Amino acid sequence: CAGCVRHRPCTQMLTAGIDYDGGWAEYVIAREDTLIPIPDSLPFDQAAIIPDAVSTPYAAVVATAGVRAAQSVGVWGVGGVGAHNVRLARLVGAAPIIAVDPLPSARERALAFGADFALDPAAPDFADQVRAATGGRGLDFAFDCAGVPAVRDQAASVLGLGGSLILVGITPRPLTITEGLTFNYLQKQVRGHYGGFPESVSELVQLTAAGRLDLAPSITDHIPLVEAADAVHRLENKIGDPIRLILVP
Ligand SMILES: [Zn+2]
Repeated sequence: CAGCVRHRPCTQMLTAGIDYDGGWAEYVIAREDTLIPIPDSLPFDQAAIIPDAVSTPYAAVVATAGVRAAQSVGVWGVGGVGAHNVRLARLVGAAPIIAVDPLPSARERALAFGADFALDPAAPDFADQVRAATGGRGLDFAFDCAGVPAVRDQAASVLGLGGSLILVGITPRPLTITEGLTFNYLQKQVRGHYGGFPESVSELVQLTAAGRLDLAPSITDHIPLVEAADAVHRLENKIGDPIRLILVP
């Protein structure tokens, strides 16, 4: 397609394991040019989670947002994708990093992963807390890792001058921004995002091999492939608040 020819995101996206066979199997056929070698220093289970729990927020941080050092970042939803969004924002030097999640355990984990603040989105003084944390300026970037309409609305409302809302989480529900004039006055933006780029995975392999990113804390458990349904149940219901579960064939 036109996207693939330009080495840009594919406009006719097909995903292995969703649109065609290729997920949760002992063996899988892959096109040779989509393979990336795993260095000996990178354990297989950690390599396995790079696409897409790490590569999606990585591409969102470094490409779609293009976060630079000392820019302020908010991350809504600190689950499997959002936890890595916090770590990657930290890696590129964002400051401050504000994690937002209704679950106290997720907020605690966000702080351990490098967030400077972890806020409850239901706090009555939420906007004031973001303003105080950013020296009154509001956020440069707000990452919605939850894909929830209410999150997007709240995140857009606390952006500062020229700030961008990055849609990392996906939902078929309509995108609505209820904010009025201040969205124009402050020249805010909303940017769509989907998955990672081919170079995202190879760059992350390079970063882990170079010791910049340790993915060991992201592996919550190893589970036999035959128990895949239980693993999905655990993720869906946040049982034990897992980041990533590894299915072992
Ligand atoms: Zn394409």
